[in-house]
Formats: sequence, structure tokens, C-alpha cells
Amino acid sequence: SMPTKTDVLEQIEAKGVDFLRLQFIDILGTVKNVSVPAHQAEKAFEEGIYFDGSSIEGFVRIQESDMRLDPDPDTFAVLPWRSQRGDDTVSARLICNIIDTSTGEPFVGDPRYVLQRAIDRAADMGFELNAGPEPEFFVFEKDENGRATTETHDAGGYFDLAPKDLAQEIRAEVIYTLEAMDFEVEASHHEVAQGQHEIDFKYDDALTTADNIATFRSVVRAIAELHDVHATFMPKPIAGINGSGMHTHLSLFEDGENVFHDGDDEFSLSDTAYDFLGGILEHAPALTAICNPTVNSYKRLVPGYEAPIYVAWSDVNRSALVRKPAARVPAASRIELRSPDPSSNPYLALATMLHAGLDGIEKGRSAPDPVRENIYEFTEADREARGIETLPSTLGQAVTALQKDDVVLDALGPHVSEKFTQAKTQEYTEFLASVSQWELDRYLETF
Ligand code: GLN
Ligand code: MG
Ligand code: MG
Ligand code: MG
Repeated sequence: SMPTKTDVLEQIEAKGVDFLRLQFIDILGTVKNVSVPAHQAEKAFEEGIYFDGSSIEGFVRIQESDMRLDPDPDTFAVLPWRSQRGDDTVSARLICNIIDTSTGEPFVGDPRYVLQRAIDRAADMGFELNAGPEPEFFVFEKDENGRATTETHDAGGYFDLAPKDLAQEIRAEVIYTLEAMDFEVEASHHEVAQGQHEIDFKYDDALTTADNIATFRSVVRAIAELHDVHATFMPKPIAGINGSGMHTHLSLFEDGENVFHDGDDEFSLSDTAYDFLGGILEHAPALTAICNPTVNSYKRLVPGYEAPIYVAWSDVNRSALVRKPAARVPAASRIELRSPDPSSNPYLALATMLHAGLDGIEKGRSAPDPVRENIYEFTEADREARGIETLPSTLGQAVTALQKDDVVLDALGPHVSEKFTQAKTQEYTEFLASVSQWELDRYLETF
């Protein structure tokens, strides 16, 4: 059963918690913390903690800035890592919902609320989304000034073992920490690229998974910091080698049964699964803006590095946008969306994927046949003949696709879509006007 406020207050006592970090996330996916002494816990639960929303990116204007954090007791976790100062201060965190104090209602700009709305819509249709992410990241050395470099921390490769995988120790510590925070870690391995890692944790309901992804990113960065190296979820830190993705496995359950499973189907997928998949494929261009929200995300979505570029699904190859992984048991029938990267806001990413899939179900979209060839090797004519679209190839194109897609815009709601679009348009405009090292290398001495 879900812990109550009273349970949490008891645990704060029992575990000698000194500080509570009240955590929420802004529209751009940055985790924010307000730290309060533990003796304020009761007040935090009864009255909420007030803060100035205008100082948070993409939230509100000054004149409507009073916001309240309502801690969700279900998210209480003692932070298991040592404090940086080496003292024995115990901190715990609680993830919060944000309340608009002028109405007393959930704040429409709170990404957690955006996801809650998607979950509620699914529940109205009788469904619960389960999601399992595969976040990848790099570990880099720092320079003498303590700034992150792109020098990899080790020279290992896919599934390499020690002694090459020096970061193994860090990965192990991340896993112990996650387990201490009640994560079920399913797999962890060195990824294809030098210095790159992946840690997969067990699928869960969408809200828990989004909370878990946010927590995971903080844990990885904190543990790396303790070892004086830098962990990054930037999608493509090094050109010419694989980038970091966050493949996301999706399935719908109804009354505890996986409704994506159909044992009689060639790929063990039900009509509901095909309709959901059809919705994902239809809305893929707009989803890209949310799941690949940085200029750098599009350096990853290029041919040849195991990242998708074509809007297609497959049961066999990994060049497609959606893969149907082999499932050993009916409960494991699912689809794997391979485009998301770990720079995305996990709440908005899961909310928009869910709405896109539900739209497919409502409209009975179904899905085209799987593509079993390596799509990277298709010519444009091959792709045209099969009606295979490409994903947006820049942040600018992705934002344009988002602006044309009412289903994904509605998923975000007017407040978030406006703030998100504004921020991303500005980011892309700044990028276009910037001068990169590539240009200097190519042109400075040529002209
Ligand atoms: N790193 C690859 C990506 O960008 C995925 C590699 C893999 O997990 N097979 O999506
Ligand atoms: Mg994997
Ligand atoms: Mg991987
Ligand atoms: Mg995968």
C-alpha cells in the first residue's frame, strides 16, 4: 500500500533525517530542489511549501508567481550517498506536485501534472501504461580546473569486463545507491562507445518511471561527482561514435493483464498494440520535439550509430524507430520506442507518447507492416515506395512538426506547449547564429 504522510513522518524520525529536499522539475526537464529542515516536514505536508514560480524557467510571469509544493508521500526516499562535505547529515527527498495558489488547483505548467492528465485519460479508457527506460550516459574526466572534458574515463567497449572498464566501480556504486532507493535494476553494462554506460531498471507505471528517470539522472551525476569525474546525459557528446539514447519500452495493462499481448498474432501483438503503435508512428515527428529536445539531440539521430531516423517499426532490426522485442512471457509483450534521448523531460516524454498511442487506439489507426531490412541502406526511392517518412533532422523542424500536431499540443496543454515552443525556438535560433569549431576548422584558413 502507498505510504501516508504519517508513515513518512515516522520514517523521518526513525532514520534521523536532517534535511528534506523537496523536488520538482521544470518544463525543460531540470530538477529543482527546495531544501527544508526536517522539523518542517509536518508543515510541508499540511500547508505545502510556498515558492516564487517566476524564478523557474518556463513557469509563470512575476505577477502570478505564488506557487505551492505539495510533497507526494509515495516518493519519500533517504538519499543514500555521503554528503559532499563528508559529515553525517542525512537528507531525504520528496517529489512534489505544484499547486497554483490563485486557484488551489494543480499548476498547468507542472510536467508531473501533464503526465497525470495523460494517465487519467488512459484510466478513463480502462488502461494503465507501463514504461521501462534504457538510459545511456557517458563518464568523462575533468580538467585541472574541475570542468568537464570529453575525454572518456575508460577505453572499454560493449559488455567489456574489467580491467578495461574502469568506470565499473562507479556503475556498481550507482546500482547500490539505486537499490537502496528501492529501484529494481535489471541490467547494467558498458555501452558500445568508449566511456559509455547503460543502466536499465524495471518497468513500472508511467508516473513512477518518470520519477525514477529524474532520480536516476541525479544519482548518476552525484556518484560521478564523488569520484571526481563527470557523467553526462547529453545525447551526442562526441561526433563519430554512438550517442546516448533512452529507449523506452511501452505496454498497456487492463485489470492487471497486458493488453498488448496476443499469442495468435505473428508478432504476439494485439490489435490494441497495433493501434497504439499506429498512433506513435503517426505522431512521431511531433513527439521528436519532446523526446529529442536539444540542438544536440539531432547529432545523434543520424545514420550509422544505432539511432533511428526513419518512421517505421521492425521485429528484427534496430534501425527502425520502433522495435518489437522478443517477449518470453505474455506480460512482457511490448514495443520499444528507440528515439527518445536522456536529455528529454521524462514526464513530458511519457505523457506525449501515451497520448499519441491512445489517439491511435481511439482512431483505430493500426500499423503498417514491419520493415525487416536495414533501413539505413534504403535509397530515397525505396523509402518512397514504402511510404517511410524520416524524423525531423533539426530541432527547428521538430518544433515545426509539434506546432502542426494538435494531439501532441493538447497532450502538453496550452501553457506548456507555448512555453516549450518559445524556449526551443529561441534555443534553435541561438544555435543557428553561433559559429562552431567545425566551421572554423573548415573555413578559417581556406578563405
Ligand atoms: N546508443 C544507441 C542510441 O543512440 C543505442 C545503442 C543500443 O542500445 N543498442 O540509441
Ligand atoms: Mg539496452
Ligand atoms: Mg543501449
Ligand atoms: Mg534497447
